[in-house]
Amino acid sequence: MKTSRRTKHLPRVIRTVPALRRAVANFRARGGKIALVPTMGALHEGHFSLIGRARNRADRVIVSIFVNPAQFAPNEDLNTYPRSFDADIAALAELKVELVWAPAVPTMYPAGFATRIVPEGPATAGLEDAIRPHFFAGVATVVAKLLIQCEPDIAVFGEKDYQQLKVVTQLARDLDLKCRILGVPIVREPDGLALSSRNRYLSPSERQAAPMLYRALKECAGKIASGAPLDAVLDYGRKAIARAGLRLDYFEARNANTLKSLTAPSGEPIRLLAAAQIGTTRLIDNVAV
Ligand code: AMP
Repeated sequence: MKTSRRTKHLPRVIRTVPALRRAVANFRARGGKIALVPTMGALHEGHFSLIGRARNRADRVIVSIFVNPAQFAPNEDLNTYPRSFDADIAALAELKVELVWAPAVPTMYPAGFATRIVPEGPATAGLEDAIRPHFFAGVATVVAKLLIQCEPDIAVFGEKDYQQLKVVTQLARDLDLKCRILGVPIVREPDGLALSSRNRYLSPSERQAAPMLYRALKECAGKIASGAPLDAVLDYGRKAIARAGLRLDYFEARNANTLKSLTAPSGEPIRLLAAAQIGTTRLIDNVAV
């Protein structure tokens, strides 16, 4: 029987922990580095950029697709979160990803599951955690599981979720995981809007207003870099975002490494971070100063 090129390159989709362990052991036996790219699916160019980085740094790339219920609060969009599994697999085939780890919810959280990792440090910086108090325990628990299951040498995360990147880096360090965490810059639309699986929820008028979040961040970063007083700049940015019709959750300048508030900035690296609601969609973004 003839096999088409496309079929030949379809990634192997694994759904059980024993099968994953066998596949990882097989990778290990053949030598080389393994990279993991954790995702919730509905893949876009932002995810593809992470996979590109993983490819450059490792011999084998595992992409996980798991919409993690533990990081959604009951009033959030777990049930309507975009899912496009077949299209994701086709895209991963094009990128020559060998293995997709796609466990069902009861595989990750079987009946009787009773362990939760509750991170501190960057996870309690008063940014995403202030708005979504459940979020980082859900993220830390699932990421720890993914890293233990896949035993990668490298795991790749986007700077799009900057606080999450810091939380995961801290987690890998604190739990002595052998895995190195790599951050990848944000991929944006031509008008600056950060790519996100949730952007497909935006109505045309919301889509038009959404890039204001990035524009305000960028403009404020420029002002801070040229020495304008922090409080005045943040006030300016907050007002600009409100004028564009976005409901701001936060717009903050933080130490780029620790995410601590800046009292009197003294040459330390600064990151501006923001989140806002537009209609029923939540946007998050950040820029370096
Ligand atoms: P998600 O599927 O939204 O949970 O995201 C999976 C990974 O992709 C996370 O590490 C995100 O930070 C990263 N990511 C999502 N959007 C982007 C983007 N626009 N640019 C870079 N990385 C991204």
